[in-house]
Amino acid sequence: MKILILSDIHANLTALQAVLESAPSFDQVWCLGDIVGYGPDPNECIQIIQKLPHLTCLAGNHDLAATGEISTLHFNYTAQKSVLWTQSTLTPENMLFLKGLQPLQMLPQAALVHGSLQDPVWEYIIDRFSAKMAFEPLNTPYCFCGHSHYPLFFQQEENDHITYQLIKGNQTCKASEKIIFNPGSVGQPRDKNPQSSFAIFCPEEQTIALHRINYNISAVQKRIIDAGLPVSLAERLSLGA
Ligand code: ZN
Repeated sequence: MKILILSDIHANLTALQAVLESAPSFDQVWCLGDIVGYGPDPNECIQIIQKLPHLTCLAGNHDLAATGEISTLHFNYTAQKSVLWTQSTLTPENMLFLKGLQPLQMLPQAALVHGSLQDPVWEYIIDRFSAKMAFEPLNTPYCFCGHSHYPLFFQQEENDHITYQLIKGNQTCKASEKIIFNPGSVGQPRDKNPQSSFAIFCPEEQTIALHRINYNISAVQKRIIDAGLPVSLAERLSLGA
């Protein structure tokens, strides 16, 4: 069994297509939320995602803001502008698809969450302290989360000590103990590496392979600017920030 894990696509169709073309074969897909927001292709990304095989899909804070389920009060100015643009661009069918998503899903072997188990919409699992809080309620061997846009691997050892690593480049992690894994962002990486990020989880082999791939960033930047979205959203894609 191979599971493709995607997160934080952020309406970046070019990155999503590049990921699906370069991903090794997979049987299932887990999408950890934020399909839309920031990027210029929300409808196209939803249409591709919903057709993926054996899909489990979460809502992220940007998806919930697009549907009006959460307020944009805690979004910065740029994010608010992109929420308004996304709301005016989404088709009724795609809006309905987003409305059917939740930010947390408990599967038998893994907790899937956009943010954290305590706060599935907003909290970032980003350091040892937030990981410690997140391990406490975890009663499955694995937790996969998104939201931070950083590929991160946390492991809780038998003495409760937590180790963690920002994964740089392509790397396969051995996942034999309690772990929390963030596959990074497909459409808006923030770890100073502009390459698109995704992971393949193999439960039988207890491995999670992180993949980084190039995509045509300038094509997306042009569509962001043509759509009238803030220029900073285009600029950050080439910085990976
Ligand atoms: Zn996001």
